Amino acid sequence: MGETSTCDVAIIGAGPSGLFAVFECGMLGLSSHVFDALPEIGGQCTALYPEKPIYDIGGLPAISAGDLIANLEAQAAPFNPVYHLGSQVTHLTEGPDGRFTIANERGDTVNAGAIILAAGAGAFGPNRPPIAALPDFENISVFYACRNTAQFTGKKIVIAGGGDSALDWAIALADIAGKVTLVHRRDKFRGAPASVAALERLVGEGKVELAVPFQLSDILGEDGQITHARLTSMDDEIRDIEADALLCFYGLSHDLSFAHEWGLHLEKKELPVNAATCETSRAGIYAVGDIACYEGKLKLILTGFAEGAIAAHAIYKRLHPETPLHFEYSTTRGLPGAA
Ligand SMILES: Cc1cc2nc3c(=O)[nH]c(=O)nc-3n(C[C@H](O)[C@H](O)[C@H](O)COP(=O)(O)OP(=O)(O)OC[C@H]3O[C@@H](n4cnc5c(N)ncnc54)[C@H](O)[C@@H]3O)c2cc1C
Repeated sequence: MGETSTCDVAIIGAGPSGLFAVFECGMLGLSSHVFDALPEIGGQCTALYPEKPIYDIGGLPAISAGDLIANLEAQAAPFNPVYHLGSQVTHLTEGPDGRFTIANERGDTVNAGAIILAAGAGAFGPNRPPIAALPDFENISVFYACRNTAQFTGKKIVIAGGGDSALDWAIALADIAGKVTLVHRRDKFRGAPASVAALERLVGEGKVELAVPFQLSDILGEDGQITHARLTSMDDEIRDIEADALLCFYGLSHDLSFAHEWGLHLEKKELPVNAATCETSRAGIYAVGDIACYEGKLKLILTGFAEGAIAAHAIYKRLHPETPLHFEYSTTRGLPGAA
């Protein structure tokens, strides 16, 4: 592990609940570090439905999930949160002083007076095909997300998967890549009807080639650079497809194993909390958003926002037992740096 940073609150999960918790903590003078397994902030909003409009955020008649996250980031920014993205938090210890040290798999380490778990359904990660050589190619020529389409210009791309992401990227890259081959183990795709129709059109125009029903069974190449994707059919026909890059879209998995390891009481993959404080079964560890449960809980973004405020107030009392908190509206308190 490298150097250890210190802050008041370590927030695990940069979804809408975690981002708003930064703001609520900041308004009470509490500094925060935010961790997420995903390379981008936004949790489900960014990973699953960035362009869909949300209609049930108070005061915002309609806002796309992506814009909501951009607004939450801007709202948190005055409090200078430190983000640790792209690595899952797996390590937690508690010192004799009641403070916690957490670290992600990369080794980023933070010592905090309290933890807010805004972890949704658990750490997001891509579902990986069972290919032993895969880790040697990841992020060099094998990817689970497409962030920069320009890197695929003129390249031979193999895309694996049969859902919306696989279809969307096959369609998006058809005019950019030199060749796109879409591999799916069935001959029917699960994507939106409009995407399936667009794909069929591109196949008809010769811009996308289909390899169905085939399964990705191996990767050939060296030094992380794929040369061929090996495909196997249901009746064991083997086909090697030339490839400069492989994009795998097999959906996302959720990992909640850390909660067990940290001795937290889980019920049906959720953390029961005291609704008055959002504290979990372990003192000093709070839970907000989808992962927190209590009687009458509604799994909505607006609920996660309110829980962030409740947890921040409870944490203030834990960290400053001698300094009573005078409740103030934001209109009274103002923002740091604001005139
Ligand atoms: C298609 C769809 C539409 C929806 N529409 C609406 C809607 O209209 N209105 C509404 O209110 N809600 C809607 N929801 C639900 C809403 O998205 C969730 O309630 C909300 O995202 C929960 O936010 P969260 O911050 O609690 O958790 P999440 O958004 O799930 O974020 C949790 C984050 O924590 C990270 N994490 C977990 N464990 C770790 C770890 N150990 N280390 C590092 N990172 C970790 C995960 O990677 C993830 O990014 C919708 C959901 C879906 C799927």
